[in-house]
Amino acid sequence: MPSEPIRNTTARWRALDVRHHLSPFADYKSLKQDEGGSRIITQAEGIYLTDSEGHRLLDGMAGLWCVNVGYGRAELAEAAYRQMLELPYYNTFFKTATPPAVELSEKLAEIAPEGLNRAFFGSSGSESNDSVVRLVRRYWNLRGQPEKSHIVSRTYAYHGSTMASASLGGMVGMQEGFGLPLPGFHHVMPPYWFDFAEAGETPADFGRRAAKAVEDKILEIGPDKVGAFIGEPIQGAGGVIIPPETYWPEIQRICSQYDVLLVADEVICGFGRTGRWFASEAFGIAPDLMTLAKGITSGYVPLSAVLVSDKVGEVLESGEGEFAHGYTYSGHPVACAVALANIALIERDGLVEKVRHETGPYLAECLQSLSDHPLVGQVRSFGLLGAIELVEDKASRKHFEPLGRVGTLCRDHCFQNGLVMRAVRDGMVLSPPLIIETAEIDALVETARRCLDLTAKDLG
Ligand code: PLP
Repeated sequence: MPSEPIRNTTARWRALDVRHHLSPFADYKSLKQDEGGSRIITQAEGIYLTDSEGHRLLDGMAGLWCVNVGYGRAELAEAAYRQMLELPYYNTFFKTATPPAVELSEKLAEIAPEGLNRAFFGSSGSESNDSVVRLVRRYWNLRGQPEKSHIVSRTYAYHGSTMASASLGGMVGMQEGFGLPLPGFHHVMPPYWFDFAEAGETPADFGRRAAKAVEDKILEIGPDKVGAFIGEPIQGAGGVIIPPETYWPEIQRICSQYDVLLVADEVICGFGRTGRWFASEAFGIAPDLMTLAKGITSGYVPLSAVLVSDKVGEVLESGEGEFAHGYTYSGHPVACAVALANIALIERDGLVEKVRHETGPYLAECLQSLSDHPLVGQVRSFGLLGAIELVEDKASRKHFEPLGRVGTLCRDHCFQNGLVMRAVRDGMVLSPPLIIETAEIDALVETARRCLDLTAKDLG
């Protein structure tokens, strides 16, 4: 049924949103009842968003952790325009390819960790993680061990929202009521010292214990049945969980000991976010498969990839018959052209080095200045990923009840005060565009402090 015309544009868009648009991760009942409706974002430039009522917001989340080069980069629009005129679409099925798809594959091999020389493309992180499940099964089938189909992951992991990628993920809310996880997906505790460590346990000891949980799970399932372990080097949507230094080396050892493929999901961590091209470099991870999305095009157009190591690639190339998997938009020429232009911008502007040597350490220092706030139980950051844990009691790291209420209060204050910061349970998380300057980090942290004060006031 067509909607009644409404003159005022913001009111009209909000009404259309409620009537016709089912937005992701939304509570439809409350959206329908909510007087205010959705915030309508109409424009963006640099690190700032503008909404339909003219409010300016500092985007502390780079969209959904993706707009690495910031908004309004003409180079990316021009790359898309040129490619659309040249060849707007052709598929890469059945032994065809396009110049942007192969040029990007080569570029990714150049910037990726050693040995990841092949790329399989999709259009989203979820698709690429689904492709991982297929690749893992194909690999073990070709190696004559088809029973190695089980995959181990962690609680609070986010690997996407399709049925397979949500099974890989460890978000209970996404699984309950959907028959997930599918069979063959297993979860162990995350390397989240703040919430999971025992009293007096050091981060180093805890890191080893969290890695041992992976080993125990592999032994419980049977190493002859486990094909892969998947993990984000830093768990993003789970609350910016930065593992202790002892964690990843142990995971690496465990995977090689039990002949389990190691999959690094770098959908958030990749493309400079941690001050390295890929966080695997920072944590000394040598992945067999690595998934990429988001920062690959800075979110300007949808694109994702699975990077495949020589070890896996050579087995795939030795097998009879086709790998019966792919997407209409695998290697989309426009998306690949934009990715190439985006990587060129990251290189030209020295954004990886800027995060590593300048803005990453600066953000860490500024966040540290919030530690004295009565609500702040811990601050942590790595490159331009940050988190502020809000607690009722600092000494015992006791959260408020119900968990999530105080984070939401703080997030709403941030929105009202011109800052986009996301709440994960009661952790405020940050992932600003990599172009952010130190003066802008000052402004961000100042607003964050003001909003912490407002939240504390609400709590009486
Ligand atoms: N993997 C990680 C680590 C993510 O953070 C996300 C999305 O936030 C995904 C995968 C899924 O990506 P997409 O939403 O593009 O399907």
